[in-house]
Amino acid sequence: MARHLITSAIPYINGIKHLGNLVGSQLPADLYARYQRARGNEVLFLCATDEHGTPAELAAAKAGKPVAEYCAEMHEVQARIAEGFRLSFDHFGRSSSPQNHALTQHFAGVLAERGLIREVSERQMYSPTDGRFLPDRYIEGTCPNCGFEDARGDQCDNCTKQLDPVDLINPRSVISGATDLEMRETKHLFLCQSQIKTEIEDWIDSKSDWPVLTTSIAKKWLQDGDGLQDRGITRDLDWGIPVKKGAEDWPGMEGKVFYVWFDAPIEYIACSQEWVDAGKGDDWERWWRTDKGAEDVTYTQFMGKDNVPFHTLTFPATILGSGEPWKLVDYIKSFNYLNYDGGQFSTSRGRGVFMDQALEILPADYWRWWLLSHAPESSDAEFTWENFQTSVNKDLADVLGNFASRVTKFCRSKFGEVVPDGGTPGAREEQLIADLTAKVREYEEHMAHAEVRKSAAALRAAWVLGNEYLQEAAPWSTFKTDPEAAAAQIRLALNVIRLYAVISQPFIPDASAQLLTALNTTDDSWPDDVAAALATLPAGHAFVVPEVTFRKITDEEREDWQQRFAGKRD
Ligand SMILES: [Zn+2]
Repeated sequence: MARHLITSAIPYINGIKHLGNLVGSQLPADLYARYQRARGNEVLFLCATDEHGTPAELAAAKAGKPVAEYCAEMHEVQARIAEGFRLSFDHFGRSSSPQNHALTQHFAGVLAERGLIREVSERQMYSPTDGRFLPDRYIEGTCPNCGFEDARGDQCDNCTKQLDPVDLINPRSVISGATDLEMRETKHLFLCQSQIKTEIEDWIDSKSDWPVLTTSIAKKWLQDGDGLQDRGITRDLDWGIPVKKGAEDWPGMEGKVFYVWFDAPIEYIACSQEWVDAGKGDDWERWWRTDKGAEDVTYTQFMGKDNVPFHTLTFPATILGSGEPWKLVDYIKSFNYLNYDGGQFSTSRGRGVFMDQALEILPADYWRWWLLSHAPESSDAEFTWENFQTSVNKDLADVLGNFASRVTKFCRSKFGEVVPDGGTPGAREEQLIADLTAKVREYEEHMAHAEVRKSAAALRAAWVLGNEYLQEAAPWSTFKTDPEAAAAQIRLALNVIRLYAVISQPFIPDASAQLLTALNTTDDSWPDDVAAALATLPAGHAFVVPEVTFRKITDEEREDWQQRFAGKRD
C-alpha cells in the first residue's frame, strides 16, 4: 500500500471563493485524494484557511468584527461549503492555530541559528495617533498622478498607478483618519533565500517529471534579474503569529508578526498536528519527518499558478534551510486560470459564480464534472453557460444517467427488480469487457499522473462504451426472440452500472453513492480485474431503479443564470 500526502493551496479567509479558485486547487486535489483512496492507498489529504495579513484585518473591520471572531466565522462558512462540494479533507485546519504559531516560530528560530535570517532596517509610515506602523493599504491620500483623493498607499484605484505611501499628497490613516503621519525607522527579518539558491536550483532541476507550468515559473524567479532575492518575513501588524525565536522572545522584534506568506505553507505541517489533536489521527510525524517514517510518502501539492513561486522557492527555502529532516514535496500540480464568460471572475462586481451560489442552483456533482473535465491545465479555460449546459446534458444526463436508467427500467419491466438469470455472454459481451478493460487501464494511467482532463475524457469514453453496447445488443429486440440472451445482456449491463459507480466516484461522488445504493451493494472495490468486477452482482441479486441521476439543464435556466451572474456594469 502506497502512502500519499496531498495538500491543496489554502484559500484566503476574506470571503467565499469562486469556481475558478475551486478548480485551481481544492477540487483537483480532492479528485486525486479520492482516487488514491479508491485504489486502497493510505492518504492524508489536508487543507486549511489562510487567515493572517492585512486583507483579513480590513475585511473584519468592514464587517465590524474583531479579526479573530471574523476569521473563526469565515472558517466555518468555508468549511461548510467545502463539505457541500464533497471535498474530502482529512482535516480542514486554520493557519491561525496554536500549532501553526509554535511551528512557524520554531522554523524562524532554527533558520536564525543557521545564519539564514538577517535583520534589515527600513523606513516606514508610522501613526502616533494609532500607535502603530501602517501597512501600505492602511494609508490613503491624494494621488500625485491624477488627483484622486482616496488613492491607497499601494495603488490608485482611479488611474491604477502603483504607488508608494510616501508619494501620496496629504496622507492619512485609514484606521483613525489621523494626518500626523511620519516616517520612522523599523526593523524587519529577511529570509536569506539567496544563500540557499543553489540547493533550491539543484532540487528543481531534479524534478524532470514536473509540469512545465510549474518549473518554468520557478526557474523564472530563480534566474531573472539578480536571481532569487532575500525576502522579508515580518510585518508591523497586530494580527498574525508573533515574531519569536522558537519559544524565546526576539529582541527588537516586539509587536511584530510573521508575514502571512511565511506562515501559510507551514500550516500544511501544522494542519496535520491539528488533525492529530482533533482526535482524527494518531501520528503526524510519519507523514512529515523522513527520520520518523515519511521516507516512503509521496507528497503532491495542488495550486493555481500564482502560488507556484512560494511553493517552489520560499517554502522549500524554509524546509531546506532548517537542516531538519522534513518531507519535501515530490510533485507540484499547478493550474492556469478559469475565466468567466468572456472576462474574469470579479468579487467586487459580483461577476461569475461563487461556491455558495453554485450549490444553491445545482448539486455538487454537476459542477465537479464540468470543472474537472474543463480544468485549466495546459492553458487558461473559460466557463460559459452554453458549454456547461451542453456538457451536463450530454455527458451526465444522456450518456451516464441514461444508461443507468434504461438498463434498470428495462430489467424491471421484463425480469423484475432483480439481476436476471440465464443465457451466456457472447462475442459482443466479450468485446465490451475487453474495451472497458482497456479504457479503465487508460483512466488509471491518467489519474496516477493527476492528468485531470485526460482522466475525465477516459471516464466519459468508458461511459460511451456501455451506451454503444446497449445500442448494438438491443436487449429490447433480443427479448422478443431470445429472452435468455437478453437476460445475459442485462445482467452484464447492470454490472456495468456498478463498475461506472466505482470508477466515477472521484469525479461525481454523490451520483456514485446513489447508484450503488440503488444496486443494493456496498462493494465499491476497484476493478483491478474488470472481467471479474463485471460479475460482481449475481443472478437473483435484488436492486431498485434509481431516481433520476442527472437532470437536464433547460434553456430557460441557462438564460436566467447567465443574466443573474453577469455582475454589475462598470
Ligand atoms: Zn491616480
